[in-house]
Amino acid sequence: MAENKKYDAIIVGMGPGGIFCAYELVKLGKHKNILLIDQGRSIFERACPMAKAGKCLKCQPCAITSGFSGAGAFSDGKLLCYHLSDYDNNGSMYLSGSGGDYIMQFLTEPEMKELLDYTDKIYLSFGADEKLEGTTFKEEIKKMQAKALKENLKLIDIPIRHLGTEKAHALYGRVQDFLSENNVKMRFLTSCKDIVVEGDTVKAVVVLDQKTGKEETIYGDHIVMATGRKGASWLSDVCNKHNIKKEVGPVDIGIRYELKNEVMDKVNKYMYEGRFVGKPAPYCDTVRTFCQNPGGFVSAEVYDNNLTLCNGHSYKDKKSDNTNLAILVTHHFREPFNKPIEYGINVGENMNTLSNGNILVQRLGDIYRGKRTWPEELENNKVKPTLKTAVAGDITFALGYRTMTDILQFIRSVDKVVEGFADPENLLYAPEIKFYSNRIKVNKDFETSIKNMYSIGECGGLTTGLSKASASGVRMAQILDKKF
Ligand SMILES: Cc1cc2nc3c(=O)[nH]c(=O)nc-3n(C[C@H](O)[C@H](O)[C@H](O)COP(=O)(O)OP(=O)(O)OC[C@H]3O[C@@H](n4cnc5c(N)ncnc54)[C@H](O)[C@@H]3O)c2cc1C
Repeated sequence: MAENKKYDAIIVGMGPGGIFCAYELVKLGKHKNILLIDQGRSIFERACPMAKAGKCLKCQPCAITSGFSGAGAFSDGKLLCYHLSDYDNNGSMYLSGSGGDYIMQFLTEPEMKELLDYTDKIYLSFGADEKLEGTTFKEEIKKMQAKALKENLKLIDIPIRHLGTEKAHALYGRVQDFLSENNVKMRFLTSCKDIVVEGDTVKAVVVLDQKTGKEETIYGDHIVMATGRKGASWLSDVCNKHNIKKEVGPVDIGIRYELKNEVMDKVNKYMYEGRFVGKPAPYCDTVRTFCQNPGGFVSAEVYDNNLTLCNGHSYKDKKSDNTNLAILVTHHFREPFNKPIEYGINVGENMNTLSNGNILVQRLGDIYRGKRTWPEELENNKVKPTLKTAVAGDITFALGYRTMTDILQFIRSVDKVVEGFADPENLLYAPEIKFYSNRIKVNKDFETSIKNMYSIGECGGLTTGLSKASASGVRMAQILDKKF
């Protein structure tokens, strides 16, 4: 491509936010001069070598988080259908993000529901499962919610369309084919390094072609940043360099919890994903369960500077004996501290150091007993770890006292609703940290304080999760279409 070619829109990051933006621009029809850039690979070339190698090889870029469909490719593919929720607690739309989804500052709840409904139909058109989880057992869910309330916990139920990891991968493959067939230019293994700003307007992106090692400047009328959690820290640096306005948000720090399917049986059956939210004493921080994977597998993902974090997913057909879910604590920092991302990175790096760069795992009972977990204890444990590369140890060395206390208190409360939730042989993996605390200031057009530069999806904290990231991309395209 000639270096000076100018695009109508350049979208940096091919996660659900970026690709749904491109999809909708194609559908709107007027402008097809679109460039998508990602530091990762095409969906058809993405593969994590961990299963074969027996350990995380710290690939850069990480196949789990980078490439076409971003963190969505190997995700559990749970599409949270808020638009089909009749849950009348108006927290349901806001709660999935640590401090609430920023996008809700620009859309009313009916507008958001309409957008999510439209986005859901796009997923269905690409072959998403028509079946909805969590809609059959209304009475049973109500009873469980009443029980939770007695323990000062909210239990939020939202209908879920579960793609499953392998099917999500295939679905996003069809989206990639659609974009190729419609002449959307896609550049893989291409990292955005910087932006070019003239006056108060963005003009271009500076990229590094990882195959040739060459840097180029590519011009575009509109530059959409959709770099996800993976690119949040990089984007934050770009904002600092170019004086793009940001707000300090909270950071979610916690663990991935793994327990037997039998314990979570009812929650899995009634809701697929039950979202418990509490404010345990003495700190009253918000603690919540998140991203529940019945019969699922705990996974590791590698970020910049080799920071390894845990996550979880589940396949549609291949099932384990365990359910995993995140337990996250939202921390709001006050002056003079304004670096939540750096704080999260520090906690993660300390944890990684203790396990020689891997994920740490510890039994709940060992935390109560004040001791580390040993590998041979893990071998004989009732709950067998599904992340085989996790290293047995002591997470309390690196997780702050406040975070740890919040988590332990929360587990005790949930145990009163779900018997066995506090079983001493349940496993805690760490670190699990969500970096959407880097909130980039945008207006109702998702435009940053630099003209023609936008931020969607998770990179600037606009949304959390697949459905809302995709929806933010759709909305972005509709906004751009009016500006072209
Ligand atoms: C294992 C796992 C399971 C998950 N399960 C679920 C689930 O079941 N349900 C759910 O709702 N959510 C789930 N999620 C979260 C979901 O994947 C994200 O919310 C969603 O992908 C965010 O979309 P996004 O477009 O904002 O960014 P991302 O999907 O993170 O995509 C960002 C893209 O930008 C690229 N990028 C970053 N920086 C640069 C740069 N400088 N230059 C070029 N490219 C760059 C990255 O390579 C990446 O491809 C899961 C995530 C993981 C990792």
